[in-house]
Parts: sequence; C-alpha cells; structure tokens
Amino acid sequence: MSSVASLVNTLIRPEILALSAYHVPDSGGLIKLDAMENPYSLPQFLRDEIACVVADAPINLYPDPNPAALKEKIRHLLNLPEGMGVLLGNGSDELIQLLALAVNKPGAALLSVEPSFVMYKMIATFIGMRYVGVPLAQDYTLDLAATLAAIEREQPALVFLAYPNNPTGNRFDPEAVRQIIRAAQGLVVVDEAYYAFASDSFVPHLADYPNLLVMRTFSKLGMAGLRCGFLAGSHAWLAQLDKLRLPYNVGVLPQLVTAKLLEHHEVLLAQAAQIKRDRAALYQRLIEIAGVTVYPSEANFLLFKVVRATDVFNGLKQRGVLIKNLHGSHPMLTDCLRVTVGTPEQNQAFIVALQESIA
Ligand code: PMP
Repeated sequence: MSSVASLVNTLIRPEILALSAYHVPDSGGLIKLDAMENPYSLPQFLRDEIACVVADAPINLYPDPNPAALKEKIRHLLNLPEGMGVLLGNGSDELIQLLALAVNKPGAALLSVEPSFVMYKMIATFIGMRYVGVPLAQDYTLDLAATLAAIEREQPALVFLAYPNNPTGNRFDPEAVRQIIRAAQGLVVVDEAYYAFASDSFVPHLADYPNLLVMRTFSKLGMAGLRCGFLAGSHAWLAQLDKLRLPYNVGVLPQLVTAKLLEHHEVLLAQAAQIKRDRAALYQRLIEIAGVTVYPSEANFLLFKVVRATDVFNGLKQRGVLIKNLHGSHPMLTDCLRVTVGTPEQNQAFIVALQESIA
C-alpha cells in the first residue's frame, strides 16, 4: 500500500505541489500594520445595534442566496444605472476566482501588471489558467506601451488592474487605463479594493465600456472579518458569473452585519477620512527619515524602501510592530516594505521602532 506522501505527490497537480500557501504570519501581541485593516472599532451605539441584529439572526437557516435588499443598498450607494447590478462574493478574492473560472477556455490568459495583488497570479495557477504579468515602469506607473503590446500579443480573456495598486499604493493614470480597456478584447476588471482612500473611480464609467467590470471590497473600510466583496457591472455579465457562485457564499451574519454597517456608512467614511489624514502625516514622517524612500499612495498603506529591508523588518518585529516585508517577493520590490496606516498612536510607535531599527 502507498504512503500518504506518495499518494499526495501522485494525485495533486504538480503546479499546486510547487505553490507555497498564502502566508499569514502570527501577529499575536504585535501592533498589526501588515494587512491593510482599518484600526478603528465601531462606536458603542452601532455595536449595540449589531448585537441586536445578530441576536435575532436566523442562523439555523441557510443564508438568503440572493440578498436583494443588501444588493439594492450597494447599487444605490454606487449610483448604478439601469441594467447594472452587483454580485456579492466571500471577499473579493472569491470574485477573482469566479471571473477566472468563467473565461478559462483552453489557452485563455489572465493578464495583470507586476508588482500587483498576488492573488491574480495565484488564482490563475489554482485553476490551470495561463498567466501573463507585464512589468510596471521603474516608478511603478503603468508601462502603457508594454501593456498594450502584451494585450495585442496575448489576447487575454481577463485583465485585472488594481486602482489604486497593491502593494505600490499608487493610482494609475486613468487615461492609460481607458486605453487598456479599449484595446482589450477580453473582460477588464478594475479592482477598487482601496476606493475609500482614493480620489477617483471607474464606477461612473461602467456604462461606457461593454468589457468593463469594477470590483470592490468592504474589507479595507472596516469589515475585513465579514468577508464581503462585490462586482459591479452589467447584468449580462453578472448573470453568467452567478452560475459559478456556490449557492450560499455569503453567510447569514456577514449579510446582516454588512447591511447594518451600510446603514451607517458615514461612520466608516469618517474613519477612512481620518486614515487619509494620517496617511499624509505618516508619509511626511517617512520622508524625513534619512535612508528611507517612500512612494505616494492613494490607499491605506505606504510602500517604502530602505537598505537591508529584511533586517529592518525584523527589527520592527522585535520592537512589537508587524508590517509586510516585500523583499524577495518580486524583483521590482527589492528592499521594499509596506506599512498599513494605523491609529496615530500605532503610527507613532511604528516610526519610533523604524528609527531604532535603521540606526
Ligand atoms: N484586491 C486587492 C488589490 C487587494 O489588495 C485585496 C486584499 N489585500 C483584495 C483584492 C482582496 O480583498 P478581500 O478578499 O478581503 O475582499
């Protein structure tokens, strides 16, 4: 009889065996500035309202497979025109997977730029889809000529552009994005995970392009634990993608709590406004530290470069601050670190720990 190890090695697809799992480090006891979470808790009145909603939640029943009121609320917040709607996902990660599954005909390609959100490539690998990564320019702006050439050459069925981009934090030139949407024969998804901290959106342009969808998540707005993301666009696209969605992908509690929080959207938007102000202050502090190069950001994090980034990352961790070490994850991210904007106190603790770690 075969051993478990040899059975695993025989049965699991080689590209899965070669993958390393998405690494989530242990953050116990540390100031957690590694995952773009909103650092603020909710005001007491809202916690009380959530407690009531949860107490009455019908958790003995399967969730509503089509939560029309929640979807209508989001449609309304986005001001979507007739003929357009939203599709909810268990986080936007799940929606990336649905999109890739839907268009993955033999030989089809998923194209994105690099460095960008790693799940685009990982999900292509999960489902055996061809992946094309087009390098950004040295300053992390879009290399439009190279991207258009790759689109022409590879004819991708699916293009992802994170707007603003993760992990670089910048927002691409909207005219360049428009040129990419026009040039692509495939579906272009503008991933607006960081929309709450950005100064522009493609939602108002959805009706201009038949091949455009916008993806968003509530994770960065203070609901990362709820796992709720959505795709906005034409019903014609959403109806096909909906067939691939597992029937109960968003649970009873996430549906109810997200709806309650969206009733008080202004609370979350005020937190996002505070984070934007603190981003500007943190940027200024980082610029002033010798040996640090910090990049402009329209997200709730900052990318910066230091010499011997891994030593600095470890120094921060020893001093109780967890950020993200990007060194080694991509050739264009050598000596790069990424810090989430926290509360003013967390940011101050980070700056002090950084200065000590660099010294
Ligand atoms: N898109 C981008 C650009 C992201 O950075 C992230 C999270 N880091 C996601 C999508 C996924 O977010 P979630 O699954 O929490 O909705």
